[in-house]
Amino acid sequence: MNEKVSKLINEQINKEFYSAYLYLEFANYYASVGLDGFENWYRIQAMEERDHAMLFFQYLHNNGEKVTLEAIDKPDCDLTNNMAPLKAGLKHEQYVTSLINNIYAAAFEDKDFRTMQLLDWFVKEQGEEEKNASDLITKMELFGSDSKGLYMLNSELSARVHSAPSLTL
Ligand code: MG
Repeated sequence: MNEKVSKLINEQINKEFYSAYLYLEFANYYASVGLDGFENWYRIQAMEERDHAMLFFQYLHNNGEKVTLEAIDKPDCDLTNNMAPLKAGLKHEQYVTSLINNIYAAAFEDKDFRTMQLLDWFVKEQGEEEKNASDLITKMELFGSDSKGLYMLNSELSARVHSAPSLTL
């Protein structure tokens, strides 16, 4: 595998674990204010990010590449109200999309079609992640300022369950 592509995927493993850590911090915030449905939603989001990390981890192994695990940064966020995690979440997903696009560009340049095929799944996944994050903000804007609305929204988010990624390597 091209050295640059391999290095970027290696870095992405760390970024996905960081995403998991960030979302765990969001779950931590919502637990502290008693919104257990929001807490559940972000706990599951954290599990999905770990799944993403493991897909890249396995992909490098499958291709005979060495994986180097680096330190995971402390979550960088300032959670001062119930909307803050949702906005930080959207911003973070937009950033992750840019990272995936960067890896794609490197793979494309190297005519690494196998990696491009892997990344096709992530490109689509990022589209869904950004939509989910954006939809949560919209719902919070619509219903979050009313206690009954917030109660209903919290109940809705408590129903989310974890499912394994639709991608196999
Ligand atoms: Mg991810």
